[in-house]
Amino acid sequence: MTNHPGENTRAVRLPAPSAPVGRSVRGPVHRSTTYAFGSSQEYADVLDGVQEGYSYARIDNPTTEAFAHAVAALEGAGLDREVRGQAFASGMAAVSTALLALTEAGAHVVAARSIYGNTYSLLDGLFRRFGVSTDFVDITDLDAVRAAIRPQTRIVFTETLSNPTMTVSDLPGLAAIAHEAGALLAVDSTFASPAVCRPLEHGADLVLHSATKYLGGHSDATGGVAVGRPELIAAIRSARIDLGPCLAADEAFLLHRGLETLPLRVARQCATAAEFAAAVQRHPAVARVDHPGLPGHQGHRLARELFDSGPEGARCGAVVTVTPHGDRGTGMAFADRLRVATIAASLGGTHTLVGHVGSTTHRQMSDEALRAAGIGPAAVRFSIGLEEPEDLVADALAALDALDGSASPM
Ligand SMILES: *Cc1c(COP(=O)(O)O)cnc(C)c1O
Repeated sequence: MTNHPGENTRAVRLPAPSAPVGRSVRGPVHRSTTYAFGSSQEYADVLDGVQEGYSYARIDNPTTEAFAHAVAALEGAGLDREVRGQAFASGMAAVSTALLALTEAGAHVVAARSIYGNTYSLLDGLFRRFGVSTDFVDITDLDAVRAAIRPQTRIVFTETLSNPTMTVSDLPGLAAIAHEAGALLAVDSTFASPAVCRPLEHGADLVLHSATKYLGGHSDATGGVAVGRPELIAAIRSARIDLGPCLAADEAFLLHRGLETLPLRVARQCATAAEFAAAVQRHPAVARVDHPGLPGHQGHRLARELFDSGPEGARCGAVVTVTPHGDRGTGMAFADRLRVATIAASLGGTHTLVGHVGSTTHRQMSDEALRAAGIGPAAVRFSIGLEEPEDLVADALAALDALDGSASPM
């Protein structure tokens, strides 16, 4: 630079922040989209992977990478082998990129019929158009899963806990079927989080998360993660770079901060959910409550085998689906009468959120289709937050009393 650069040159070459002197406890947010090199050779070496470093934010960003490493450490905590992670702009970005990276035209997928709605439509729509076919099966029926396997099957796709019935997948059983067929077991573990279950310990090859839910935990950041062994994650990273759904540094910072309280939050949310499920189940207006902590639930035994427990009790997830006797209108009225729980999409945050299943997440399904999936027309899903359990129970019981006609309606 000349000794007296012009006004605009000075403006864009203002003194740069120096490297932090002290070691900040909280990692910085690296917003820069690009990185300076000392020489053309260094630039080329970083791009070639010969030298470690960062070049461009869509490829790698230190804040985003730190978050992905942290999730990989949580999911791989019980393993001796190496586990890596990649972060994404959303849970669906993680799911779609991983599925694209691990299939090709002509490939076949066996997926749980109960999977997240957008994963279902992705596989049933876009993927079919590009030559990847999927059979959707009752994932609790291992014979049906085995029967659906074909020579072209690349992936068996399930969720640790499914929405909204909290069905628990038999991960070791599914892993055995997938591996026997030379396929991978991919598990969307959003509803569990690594504070409840780490699917890699039970034979899964790949774990996917909507970090928007429990990992972030505060309903203020959208993101996703894929975790698995290095060669799978390398293929997924490469697809991510081409497709472009990188997680922004600001979001990564918030999601990473959320991880610090993940076990505390989730342990408490699970304990409250179990207490809530047991209390609400006894109300005469209630036809059914779905939660794996309840004896008689499909996943009660599997949850004991596969899920963690702590001093606060077994961790069976923090979603509880309460189905009053009645029709869709009854379910909507139940949700509308709640005062502590908030009607809202999403789950896993500090606030208890509720939604009437038949008019929201499963609105495309008829009453018969809902019943076939084990979901009553009046079902209301609770994502239990951090409120006091007695406040949540009292809120639900009052709303149920009002439905029952045993209390004066509002
Ligand atoms: C929310 C969710 C997703 C999608 O995550 P986004 O962050 O909204 O893209 C995928 N799977 C499950 C089970 C979810 O709950």
